[in-house]
Amino acid sequence: MDTFKVKTEIKFGQNALEYLKTIRDQKILIVTDPFMVQSNLIGKVTEFFTAGNYHVFSDIVPDPPVELVAKGVTEAKAFAPDVILALGGGSAIDAAKAIKDLAMKIGNLKDITFIAIPTTSGTGSEVTSFAVITDQEKGRKYPLISDELLPDIAILEPELVKSVPPATVADTGMDVLTHAIEAYVSTKATDFSDAFAEKAAQLVFQYLKRSYDSADDLVAKEKMHHASCLAGLAFNMASLGLNHAMAHNIGGKLHVPHGRTNAILLPYIIEFNANIEGYNQTSYSEAAKKYARLAHLIGFGGGNVRSGVKNLMNEIKKLEKSMEMPSSILECNVTKDQFASNEVEIALGALEDSTIDTNPRMATKEDILSILHEIV
Ligand code: NAD
Repeated sequence: MDTFKVKTEIKFGQNALEYLKTIRDQKILIVTDPFMVQSNLIGKVTEFFTAGNYHVFSDIVPDPPVELVAKGVTEAKAFAPDVILALGGGSAIDAAKAIKDLAMKIGNLKDITFIAIPTTSGTGSEVTSFAVITDQEKGRKYPLISDELLPDIAILEPELVKSVPPATVADTGMDVLTHAIEAYVSTKATDFSDAFAEKAAQLVFQYLKRSYDSADDLVAKEKMHHASCLAGLAFNMASLGLNHAMAHNIGGKLHVPHGRTNAILLPYIIEFNANIEGYNQTSYSEAAKKYARLAHLIGFGGGNVRSGVKNLMNEIKKLEKSMEMPSSILECNVTKDQFASNEVEIALGALEDSTIDTNPRMATKEDILSILHEIV
């Protein structure tokens, strides 16, 4: 039996932030990163609150480590909030999810409402039961997965993403596309998750380049914000695959931004999963057929499955090139030696990452190493 359920209430459209007026008199712990404070983007949220009723924990860094979560739990226990509000990209939202979960489990705090306000259009974390936390000592990123991590409320306000620099728009936008495509070919995909994944992928091809080109294109910003959330809903149902299993381990070891790693991997993972052998092939894997169907829906399908898959890979590469994204890991401040000395551990880590379980094609350590050699 499958179940389709969305726990998170999603507020979007004009004046979505005004929802915050309804919690103005509650005790609110804001979990965010230093940029939100320095740029005073946080003011767009705190203007709705009563002074003295909120406390800001703004230590979050990209790929939040376990130690930071522990520090956040201490702050939460001391402040005893009614609401935890995460403001930021996936890193702030994920850290806040883990802080809330632990504060309730080991800190004995009760009835905390969790509100997520994303400031990047990428992870979809505002609607997922995933939180990715980094173990810096082991150089691994661990996806925690539990429905208890799901936010109660998500607020989508495109004004908050206008300040994202173009390179991060590209990285996070390609993260959206990777979520949509991995969910679409996942072994747990259903008609319900497909509907969200298809719409998200279409929106990315229509609006990501526009969003990259102009900080003031609020239509493109809003559409990418919606695409991110829709892709989050898709993979929250269907989960992900080999792309993320590898990206978590490359990110943990080599510190390349998450979306950028996903983007570099994506065409190679599609090629691996589609597993097309030659021109005369008469039957194709389910994954190949789904990739070709997605290409067709987006508007660049070919005459057959093989050309549909190729077109999808080529259009992804074209989109990445149009945003001046790197096409290899060595273009991301990683040396050949760093890569070589970590590749076996990356492959082994990917095999242990829970997101690999729903990849449509089984991958061995050798398969993963060979993909790693393609992206160097
Ligand atoms: P991020 O949160 O790490 O932020 C990246 C950078 O962008 C930071 O320096 C941040 O300060 C800056 N930034 C954020 N919003 C900004 C704004 N409006 N203007 C200017 N700068 C801004 O980036 P991300 O890609 O959103 O999140 C990545 C993290 O999320 C990774 O740890 C990844 O593993 C995780 N992730 C989680 C899920 C999930 O479902 N929970 C899914 C995918 C990825």
